[in-house]
Amino acid sequence: EKKKQIQEKETLVKLLRWHFDHPNFRDKQLDAIQAVLSGRDCFCLMPTGGGKSMCYQIPALAKPGIVLVVSPLIALMENQVMALKEKGIAAEFLSSTQTLQVKNKIHEDLDSGKPSLRLLYVTPELIATPGFMSKLKKIHSRGLLNLIAVDEAHCISSWGHDFRPSYRKLSSLRNCLPDVPIMALTATAAPKVQKDVIESLCLQKPLVLKSSFNRPNIYYEVRYKDLLDDAYTDLSNVLKSFGDICAIVYCLERTLCDELSAHLSKNGILCAAYHAGLNNKLRSAVLDNWISSKIQVVVATGIDRKDVRMVCHFNIPKSMEAFYQESGRAGRDQMLCKSLLYYGMDDRKRMEFILSKAENKKSESSSSQEALSKKSISDFKLMVEYCEDSGCRRKKILESFGEQVPPSLCKKSCDACKHPNLVAKNLEELTTTCAIRQKNSFSRIFISSQDMNDDRKTSEFWNREDEASGSEEDISDSDDGIEFVKSLSKSKLSTKAGLNAKIDFLQRAEESYYQTKDKQVNKLNKNAISESLREA
Ligand code: ADP
Repeated sequence: EKKKQIQEKETLVKLLRWHFDHPNFRDKQLDAIQAVLSGRDCFCLMPTGGGKSMCYQIPALAKPGIVLVVSPLIALMENQVMALKEKGIAAEFLSSTQTLQVKNKIHEDLDSGKPSLRLLYVTPELIATPGFMSKLKKIHSRGLLNLIAVDEAHCISSWGHDFRPSYRKLSSLRNCLPDVPIMALTATAAPKVQKDVIESLCLQKPLVLKSSFNRPNIYYEVRYKDLLDDAYTDLSNVLKSFGDICAIVYCLERTLCDELSAHLSKNGILCAAYHAGLNNKLRSAVLDNWISSKIQVVVATGIDRKDVRMVCHFNIPKSMEAFYQESGRAGRDQMLCKSLLYYGMDDRKRMEFILSKAENKKSESSSSQEALSKKSISDFKLMVEYCEDSGCRRKKILESFGEQVPPSLCKKSCDACKHPNLVAKNLEELTTTCAIRQKNSFSRIFISSQDMNDDRKTSEFWNREDEASGSEEDISDSDDGIEFVKSLSKSKLSTKAGLNAKIDFLQRAEESYYQTKDKQVNKLNKNAISESLREA
């Protein structure tokens, strides 16, 4: 038995080397392949770029017959089929975009007793049509349907980030073709999604394989916009200090992409904006220039290349999953690289506002949608924790995917592990700076409210204030304000931004002392304020 296993392994490695030119299997690939070849169902969780396709492509070459691959996007299918054909492997896809002639040829091959096809890619919609299902049954009755691989299997779960109703129809596969092994593949690690996938596809005691999501070659760092004089300039300096590297900067919005790209260009960085707002010609010109290294940096909403050395998020992403996918575009060549996230309180508030608005809207509709938007709010909380906690960043990422992380894993390849004191200090200052800001807006409202006995002016003022500023409670909360001045006078701030905010606040407090005759303001000790201001 053991000898047989060794022989089988050797044969599979030979197939890998012969057809794909890879020296060896990656972690978990061989287990997945052997499971389905022995007729067992398999659930494969691997990060993007982890090598999922090999898990069903090798079984397609290991014995005669067909592997059916269900995939959600025609573009994805086209790409894979093209790559396989280039390697001389008989693969096709069936979709509405093909000519009748091409489709007929594929059907003819399937109907023949000895199909030459090894891999057939189809959409979930096609599986649901009765005609196609009876064709599959026929192929199966001849013993020629070896495996059904469901790629991007999280699309079946409404808990995933990419639910597709058409995937639900795949639950009929097990019923119609009870003894064909099914392999579900995904990069979405939420336990709820996994359970949903296994149940929906009726997988029978599947072999569950999970590859680690750890990307040891990425160094993770967070910088705090609120503690920087100017995040734009900071980013240009970082990019310059890296020299001639390939980088992606992600922004939340197109206008910011354009603005940031213009700023970086002005600072001598070869860069361009790349987003859906550009016309096709310009987009492909930017892409060509980037791929051929004529430009160094793209400021983008979505793009890919293998030798990216740095991925920078200029705004906080909406979930750990999005962050992982995007930061994971760095270092796909396995060489060292960096993920840098600029975290700003304004960005955080903005995202929270967007998500809460979505929740309010959705709570009027179905309860499952409501649960989904609650999920997006808790997803975002994890992202905020990643930025606001002084613990290992890598650990935060991996734990959010349900992985257990041994203490030695990071090896000082994130800022929190490499410079723990600095990160802790930054976070402390971030808290102080934000508190100062809060009180600053309190003081602004406070000052203005003194010379506003006119309702119109007051309401104008309120309308001018952004969400971040104080609430009505702040105005009546002046004792708190006085306490705040006292504690602020004692606080020691070392960053320029923190110090500026302190001076700014004290100046406002001083001004308010002179401008008003209000009892409460007079309670603010004029001398104490002037003293602290001088010191600052
Ligand atoms: P996924 O579908 O998980 O995102 P892919 O199947 O597209 O990943 O594989 C990602 C990359 O890894 C591809 O370029 C592929 O050629 C490569 N790859 C897959 N398996 C191996 C292996 N055993 N050894 C080396 N490279 C591999």
